[in-house]
Amino acid sequence: MVAGWFTEGGDDREFRLLGTRCGACSAVFFPREDSFCRNPACAGGELTEVPLSKRGRVWSYTAGRYRPPAPYVSDPEAEWEPYTLVAVELEAERMVVLGQAVTGVAVADLSVGAEVEVVAGILSEDADTEWTTWYWRPVEEAR
Ligand SMILES: [Zn+2]
Repeated sequence: MVAGWFTEGGDDREFRLLGTRCGACSAVFFPREDSFCRNPACAGGELTEVPLSKRGRVWSYTAGRYRPPAPYVSDPEAEWEPYTLVAVELEAERMVVLGQAVTGVAVADLSVGAEVEVVAGILSEDADTEWTTWYWRPVEEAR
């Protein structure tokens, strides 16, 4: 379900979300749109894959009080683990991408406008396979 939504392999420094950009109107889509440009004012152009900004700023956030939306799965048998959901405005694209904060980051650790970066994390795993997804991690300010 999440194939092609982010780069595979590499380390956190190289990890990026992947969107698509319309060759005609330059609109960027995430999740990726591969069939047609969704800009109603656009006649349609070729959609090409583009890596999205690694960093962005917190636009909104909330504590997860219900089971997370796709692609974040949660095992109904597993013990409930709270999580923090963050909406992030990407640096260059100015589009808002929703995702979970990395484990251990609570709403008290976040503020609107704080800089975060996208990192890979494990969504779920079984004996044979690990499924990864993206998480938002606060950027440590260099002081
Ligand atoms: Zn377009």
